[in-house]
Amino acid sequence: MATDKKEKLRKSEDEWRQELTPEQYHILRERGTERAFTGEYAHSREKGVYRCAACNQELFSSDTKYDSGSGWPSFYEPAAPEHVDNHDDNAFGMRRVEVACSRCGSHLGHVFEDGPRPTGLRYCINSASLKLEPKK
Ligand code: FE
Repeated sequence: MATDKKEKLRKSEDEWRQELTPEQYHILRERGTERAFTGEYAHSREKGVYRCAACNQELFSSDTKYDSGSGWPSFYEPAAPEHVDNHDDNAFGMRRVEVACSRCGSHLGHVFEDGPRPTGLRYCINSASLKLEPKK
């Protein structure tokens, strides 16, 4: 059935817990953060498409990935603006902007305004929230 709103994926936390690894569940569903320099994609230069580890939505292209020195995969732009949602995050006494997958609502990371050109944005994303589909 056609609707003007993009289809959202809704699952219970029990379902997510069964499908995801404990680390993925913690980061994606409980807004956790992996330790810097530990994630599998922190320094990856492999070409391809980074998809949501929870729902497979296309999130970032390796073409926009750069080395921010932060220890987390960093991108200056999402694959499509409507594929990510931004939310104010005032946890831990900081004012940050959380980035979530627009399809399944899972936590991805944060976006900061100290990125490179052309956008000036730094999408600081947990490796555990991503799944790289290598370019064929
Ligand atoms: Fe998702």
